[in-house]
Amino acid sequence: MPEYLKVYEVGPRDGLQNEAALISTEDKKRLVGGLVKAGLRSIEVTSFVNPKAVPQMADAGEVMRDALAKYGPAVDEPGARQFTGLVFNERGYERALAAGCRAIAIGAAVSESFSQANTGMSTQQALEMAGKLAEWARRDGVWTRAYISTAWVCPFEGPIRPEKVIAYAEKLWETGVEEMAISDTIGHASPLEVGRLMEALGRRLDMARLAVHLHDTQAMGLANTTAAIQAGVRIHDSSVAGLGGCPFAPGAAGNLATEDLVFLAFKLGLGTGVDFVALWDVVAEVEKMVGRPVGGRIRAWWESSGRLEEGVPRMSGPV
Ligand code: MG
Repeated sequence: MPEYLKVYEVGPRDGLQNEAALISTEDKKRLVGGLVKAGLRSIEVTSFVNPKAVPQMADAGEVMRDALAKYGPAVDEPGARQFTGLVFNERGYERALAAGCRAIAIGAAVSESFSQANTGMSTQQALEMAGKLAEWARRDGVWTRAYISTAWVCPFEGPIRPEKVIAYAEKLWETGVEEMAISDTIGHASPLEVGRLMEALGRRLDMARLAVHLHDTQAMGLANTTAAIQAGVRIHDSSVAGLGGCPFAPGAAGNLATEDLVFLAFKLGLGTGVDFVALWDVVAEVEKMVGRPVGGRIRAWWESSGRLEEGVPRMSGPV
């Protein structure tokens, strides 16, 4: 396995989508700019979801166009930045393409009740939609990733059997998506469960194209991440400042914080290409943007003098 870890930043989409107060389009553009400056190359910039359902993402086209114009190219060349837009249906796909989007993420869930609650589609309908969107994307030369939500625990159905996830993942894989993110949507998975499922999926699919999308709800974010790394996963989703959560998980803490993930990678000797010092500028900006204290678990230590004694570098590392 390569000694680097691809950080897939979801803050501008998964993070901001959960903010009750509307964030200005200018703030969103500045956030993407800060993340690019900090060295993040894979950023989920927005969601081309129905603006009536998610008003926070109503400016999806403008934010995407701005990111592509300022920081592109978003083509799939080695080392190129990639700006992804989340799409759930044909309309979303058309809006994404109209904004110049060259990478999309498709949402699907393994649990029937979550799928219905989140997208109004059955798991079978979500599979069919994913197949259609992946086919269109192939035709248009657009890169694709797919999410499998509720891969360990569903807020409505409880624990999900691994065999069920594997069977669903295999079908979704057949649609030809280039990356698949196995998601602990409400953050209730345990390290052993994460390790086992990812090992099993890695044997059947292609570990190099599997990602994990983990949450820190029960303070298992970094433990689960370590289990996934040990299983061989090298693509990890995270959200700057730990923004986000899940509307179906009351009291849930957010996504795994990017600063925690990047620091874990550093401790394990895995390069990320992320400049930790510049990343903290983004955390500070996010705090102003949302108007409350934010930041990952490492924040207190980072803001103490400990980092100076330990000599934490600008940890670009190999990519
Ligand atoms: Mg999330």
